[in-house]
Amino acid sequence: MVDLVIRNARLVSPEGIVRGELAVEEGRISEIAASGLPKADREIDAKEKIVMPGVIDIHAHLYDHHYLPREDFRNGSAAAAAGGVTSVIVMPLDTPMLTPRAIKTIIGLGQKESLIDFALHAGNMTADSIKDIPKLASLGIKSFKAFTCAPYGIQDPVLGELMTAIKNVDGFVFVHAEDDKILRKQTKRLLKEGRRDPLAHAESRPNEAEERAVERVIKLAKQTGCKLHLAHITTRQGAELVGKAKKKRMSMTSETCPHYLLFTKEDMQRLGPYLKVNPALKTGEDCAALWDALAKGVIDIVSTDHAPGTKTEKELGWKNIWTAQAGIPGVETLLPLMLSEGVAKGRLTLERLVDALCTKPAQILGFYPRKGVIRKGSDADLVLVDRKKEVTITAEKLHYKVGWTQYDGTIVKGMPVMTISRGVVVAEDGEVIGKPGHGQFLFK
Ligand SMILES: [Zn+2]
Repeated sequence: MVDLVIRNARLVSPEGIVRGELAVEEGRISEIAASGLPKADREIDAKEKIVMPGVIDIHAHLYDHHYLPREDFRNGSAAAAAGGVTSVIVMPLDTPMLTPRAIKTIIGLGQKESLIDFALHAGNMTADSIKDIPKLASLGIKSFKAFTCAPYGIQDPVLGELMTAIKNVDGFVFVHAEDDKILRKQTKRLLKEGRRDPLAHAESRPNEAEERAVERVIKLAKQTGCKLHLAHITTRQGAELVGKAKKKRMSMTSETCPHYLLFTKEDMQRLGPYLKVNPALKTGEDCAALWDALAKGVIDIVSTDHAPGTKTEKELGWKNIWTAQAGIPGVETLLPLMLSEGVAKGRLTLERLVDALCTKPAQILGFYPRKGVIRKGSDADLVLVDRKKEVTITAEKLHYKVGWTQYDGTIVKGMPVMTISRGVVVAEDGEVIGKPGHGQFLFK
């Protein structure tokens, strides 16, 4: 007998939004039909709700054994599942994930702890770690995180060498692009002026820093022929440079994050260190340009850069912003915010939202069509969405270890009401029912 059938659904499929039913066998979509699928062990009546592929968060710092009060695999993957995320790509935080041994340890941990499927980015790349790239690739790692700025910055010639090595294993380079010289100069000036207020952080990381670095990184990728993914684009200028490169048919992709679409640096006056992120928040003009670039596909995807600090680490920043941790939570609110601020407000179509949160991330990572699409044979990673449901986001309702969210009090319209990972219901109405160890490592 078939394991699961979902009936009366509006399926977001490559053919558009279609009324129909879907059957699941052994974790995969076994049949899609307008009606009449045979009875299954478990029947779900979607009651005309949207059924879309599970969200793939390509940029989430879920685990660093030195920072467990901030987040861990079990908790982070549970929060992600509650928010409609079915695959998470774990990004190194501070402790290097650079050697085969380190990578194997974290894969093992994820297999034990994660409620949803996961993959890893190696990083943060150094000159010394370039030689290990073929070994890391043979473990299924095809993405390598590099910085152009402190504290993990590498010089352009090293980044060039890195790109060549990555190209040789058919991987891609994942770059945090901000110009180190500009950041250092601005920081020095602000410190000299005695600035310690939250906005000083934003001023230390101006638009120009992103523009300069993005320009250079695109040039290096072009020279080396390495596939490039730009992390968190935050400026109009950054988006324009990506648009130009794509017009010239460069093999590159880019992302932005909900906080760059929804907050400006002025919001730091209200939320202070709780909005300290790297890169920093920009202006309303930048937000508008990012939404536009996202709608057009110039910016391919939205990731979270989930990297929360504890309240203690954040509170320090009210007196002196330089001492606060940089980073905010995000895995659980990604889909609700994009449904509400994107689709309900008419900035994105539902089809483009699915493309940006599910299909494109799977394609970038090489997991498509196993992931990121509702299609016969694909993994049954699915989210039921109630587009009419209105919810006020509060920290208490979310599952973050740190117990806070920058969206506290935000009303959203459109919520994931059920998350299914390879045919197994892992979250329902914001409650996590998945089990640690269900998540599998996604090998590429
Ligand atoms: Zn990050």
